[in-house]
Amino acid sequence: MAEPKENLQMEKIVSLCKRRGFIFQSSEIYGGLNGFWDYGPLGAELKRNVKELWWNTMTRQRDDVAGLEATIIMSPEIWKASGHVATFSDPMIDCKTCKGRFRADQISEIPCPQKPSRMVNECAGEKTEARPFNLMFKTHTGPLESDENIAYLRPETAQAIFAQFKNVLETARQKVPFGIAQVGKAFRNEVTPRNFTFRSREFEQMELEFFIKPDEVIQAIHGSVATISENPQSAIRNPQSNWGWQAWHQYWVEERVRFYEGIGLARATLGFHHQTPAELAHYARACTDILFKFPFSKKDEAGNAAGDELEGIAARSDFDLSQHQRFSGKPMGVFDEELRAAWAKLPKEKQDDLWKRYYEHRKNYLTKSAKPDETPEQISQQATEDANGLAKGQYLPHVIEPSAGVDRLILALIANAYSEVTKTDDKGKSETTVVMKFHPRVAPVKVGVFPLLKNKPELVAKAQAIYELLRPHLKTVYDDGGSIGKRYARQDEAGTPFCVTIDFDTLGEKPELLDTVTVRHRDDGKQERLKISELLEFLLSKIR
Ligand code: ATP
Repeated sequence: MAEPKENLQMEKIVSLCKRRGFIFQSSEIYGGLNGFWDYGPLGAELKRNVKELWWNTMTRQRDDVAGLEATIIMSPEIWKASGHVATFSDPMIDCKTCKGRFRADQISEIPCPQKPSRMVNECAGEKTEARPFNLMFKTHTGPLESDENIAYLRPETAQAIFAQFKNVLETARQKVPFGIAQVGKAFRNEVTPRNFTFRSREFEQMELEFFIKPDEVIQAIHGSVATISENPQSAIRNPQSNWGWQAWHQYWVEERVRFYEGIGLARATLGFHHQTPAELAHYARACTDILFKFPFSKKDEAGNAAGDELEGIAARSDFDLSQHQRFSGKPMGVFDEELRAAWAKLPKEKQDDLWKRYYEHRKNYLTKSAKPDETPEQISQQATEDANGLAKGQYLPHVIEPSAGVDRLILALIANAYSEVTKTDDKGKSETTVVMKFHPRVAPVKVGVFPLLKNKPELVAKAQAIYELLRPHLKTVYDDGGSIGKRYARQDEAGTPFCVTIDFDTLGEKPELLDTVTVRHRDDGKQERLKISELLEFLLSKIR
């Protein structure tokens, strides 16, 4: 039977990743460990570039975001407050015949044990009922393996941001609206890891929690909340003080799409999924998933793929800070002098209206999250206290959360870059080579430096000098092995956007070309002659 094209494409990608050192199976010499992957020399560079670009875009280039780097193991109370201990599970079923264990919602597309990149039909054996399986990896802190010492490897980076919200607020001299960003490892004991690195058990996330004022606070200060229709695509790039959660949510979706475009994923390769009310968590107001059309993404009858999730952008209300406030007993709210002053000037009926809406929101949250021993009177009293806080300038910030997976993005960049070029020589012999068309910003190696011949000391000395000139600024490789064509092909497969050749004209054979080099462009093979003195600036301009 013919292989479906998309599986072949994935097999080629998996094979290139191993052959060229992008991604290896973890513990390969011992047969591998399902759901764990290592990044080889090229993959490690690619990953660093992606994380660095995210960090720069989301923190250093902005005045309103501060960074955080928290531990992987944290107090288990954090995971009780966040709801992960109680509910972070997938439905799992076992097959009584083949003894396989699967996610109930993915039973028709399980990975083939021999070739994990290929999907096979399920075994027809009888299945058990689905039961919840908690995805958190458990461990113990200290020498005793007792229940009191249970700890979890974090299943997401976000919770540390909420737990440290007050410390960051106080030390970063920020005021709402502002965000806290973190990049780091996360662990989920996925029932069926699959699609290469797409669903792994150890992976990295890049998460931002962007704290905003609740809509009632915006209304108290500004009279009304800017609506989406007042924020057409062009205006959504300039945050305004009267934005409510909807505008901020739309803003972050746009910002994140622009980030992906800026690293080479064109809008046409992306898709969107707006979660339906039935899909949304009870506290969430909206969630937009940004999808990428992977080779394994399901296609409709017309052959169009919606894509699979790269990143989710959720409007999570004040749920997380509220939970940590309740579980830790520490106040998580902020004081806003502008609100206090504005509230005092509001007409009584406006105050009553905003008070009531804030009260209802808090009561709703408190009711849904109530501990068994909490009475409706206690809940109502707490909601009243919360709403009374508005007059004193106090509120719990709401949050918009753009949460992206590094590994899924790396896989998207690799799939997007993968292209094959077939060339036929004069004798009619054709050869197909792989060109990884990475955007220069993410490309693992930015430039290759080649002396035309390796046995001419003058050429070698000049090439070495150029290598030393470039390498403090850009990931550069020096290659003097084989013909220039072979060296180009090697760099094409690694996705290196520029190759620099030092030839006899560089040394002044044609005096007018003294101290110039040939720069060859990966995607169209075009060559141009540049002065060595202009080379570094030229290359840097392409990766900024
Ligand atoms: P999915 O529905 O695909 O399991 P999710 O909605 O549970 O993903 P989130 O909890 O929103 O994912 O995590 C945010 C991001 O972290 C995801 O968009 C994805 O990029 C990444 N991510 C989540 N789980 C994994 C995983 N098992 N392997 C690799 N990346 C992951």
